[in-house]
Formats: sequence, C-alpha cells, structure tokens
Amino acid sequence: RPVIKAQSSPDYVPDSQFYKIEAILRPWRVAHVSSGLMKMGIRGVTVSDVRGFGAQGGSMERQAGSEFSENMFLAKVKMEIVVSKDQVEAVIDKIIEEARTGEIGDGKIFLIPVSDVIRIRTGERGEKAERMMGGLADIISTASSN
Ligand code: ATP
Ligand code: GLN
Repeated sequence: RPVIKAQSSPDYVPDSQFYKIEAILRPWRVAHVSSGLMKMGIRGVTVSDVRGFGAQGGSMERQAGSEFSENMFLAKVKMEIVVSKDQVEAVIDKIIEEARTGEIGDGKIFLIPVSDVIRIRTGERGEKAERMMGGLADIISTASSN
C-alpha cells in the first residue's frame, strides 16, 4: 500500500491515469520495438533522433577538461508512448523484449505521469482522447466480449 505523501515531499510519487513511457533506444532496434508494439495494439508513438551519453560513452578519445564535448554523444532514438496506467507494464516488457541485446548501451526507460491528454481535432480530453481506434483497450474489450 502506498503511503500518502505531501506533494511538497521529495519522495512524493504522483499517481496518474496516464503515463508517458520514454525509452532511449539503439537506432537499429527501433523497427523491432515499433513492430512489437504495433502487434500488441499500441497505435500512438512518437520518435525523435537524439544523441546521448551513458555508460557506453562516445568516442574513446580523451577529452581535455571536464566539459562535454561534441563527440562524446552517440546517436540514439527517443521513443515516447502515452498509455493508460494498466497498459504500462505490458509496454515496458515489450520494449525490453525487442530492444535488449544484453550489451552496454541498450538504453533506458523513464516513466512519467501525464496529467491529461487532449485530442486537438475534437477537443476531447482524458480517456476519450487517449483511446485509439483499434487500440489495445479495444482489442482487450473485443476479446473479452466474445
Ligand atoms: P485524430 O483522430 O485526430 O487523428 P489521433 O489521436 O489519432 O487523432 P494523431 O493526430 O494521429 O492522433 O497523432 C498525431 C501524432 O501524435 C502521432 O503521429 C504521434 O506522433 C503522436 N501521438 C498520438 N498519440 C500518441 C500517444 N498515445 N503516445 C505518443 N505519441 C502519440
Ligand atoms: N491506450 C490506448 C488504447 O488502448 C493506446 C495508446 C497508444 O497507442 N499509445 O487505445
């Protein structure tokens, strides 16, 4: 049972109806991850080309001084997926399954609470805006009504 914490507390974790799963991936695993997500019913995904520095590092060349230099960063892809709370674990498992090689540089996943979703075309908010036609929630409700 989570302990209710004051919002000003540094260990306060907001509970949310929606979460953003932000995954930093090796560029050549992105096609595997996105087709795996598609197959499970994920319909909304955003990707960006980013550059990052982690345990894998970048260039082996030594840098003078402590400032981050240009060639310390490796090409990565950031994938952002907003889902309802009950879909979070399945999406994380799928990303790991499709992205993992076991070598340093496989990336990281960050989980971020999202306070609302607004569909620009219709002005819908919340669950109505987050749901996608033929998406995971639809697939599950169709399967359970049969
Ligand atoms: P509409 O029915 O008006 O087309 P939609 O909900 O299908 O709305 P789009 O307008 O097609 O959404 O989405 C535009 C872009 O928003 C997508 O290309 C994608 O980058 C991003 N996007 C949509 N939904 C999500 C989501 N749940 N998570 C991450 N990105 C999303
Ligand atoms: N939760 C949405 C649905 O089940 C899917 C969200 C997404 O595809 N990112 O319809």
